[in-house]
Amino acid sequence: MPDYKRPAVEITKFEPENRQGLLLVITGNGKGKTTAALGMTLRAVGHGLKVGIIQFMKGDMYAGEWDGVKHLGENVELFSTGRGFCGILGNPYSREEHRADAQAAIRLAEDKINSHSYDLLILDEINNACHLKLVDLEQVKSLLVARPETMHLVLTGRDAHADIVEMADTVSEVTEIKHAYRNDIEPQPGIDY
Ligand code: ATP
Ligand code: MG
Repeated sequence: MPDYKRPAVEITKFEPENRQGLLLVITGNGKGKTTAALGMTLRAVGHGLKVGIIQFMKGDMYAGEWDGVKHLGENVELFSTGRGFCGILGNPYSREEHRADAQAAIRLAEDKINSHSYDLLILDEINNACHLKLVDLEQVKSLLVARPETMHLVLTGRDAHADIVEMADTVSEVTEIKHAYRNDIEPQPGIDY
């Protein structure tokens, strides 16, 4: 049994009358969108939920969560797709290549939704992929409509489309107040990636 390192008081565990899948959007310019989704992953695993994470535009740069989720056991599957951020200076791949990767990631999401593979599915950076037109708004909307009633879906990334915000149950905008990179502090492992 786990040692929660907690005081000797009675634990209550809330059980909702109805289990209902929620649509959550985490957007904005501040740091914390992907890490919020990973935090939900940690929490969901504690409840025995099965979690899928599909990362868009991220396959070219190692991030700690790729190996980190292995420690959460078999209830978490992570797919990192794509060739990095489309349109930023120094990224050598064409728009068509970025779009083909994002389209493959959307097909993967469709498969996972149609096969009811997860209780919680995270589509990381899909908002940016949609904003950059690597996936179409209608494709994202179709995913939302197709999902099983009890499946939670989390969409992260900047520039979430107004229609998606409208369809969501919970929307958070992470606002940048400060970011270390503005003081030329390099990205740090475990914090930034
Ligand atoms: P995190 O993954 O830390 O939760 P995020 O998902 O909110 O961040 P993204 O826009 O996906 O933010 O940025 C990915 C990473 O790049 C983050 O670790 C963030 O700290 C870093 N970052 C964000 N904006 C910039 C920038 N303009 N220049 C350099 N690094 C940045
Ligand atoms: Mg992110």
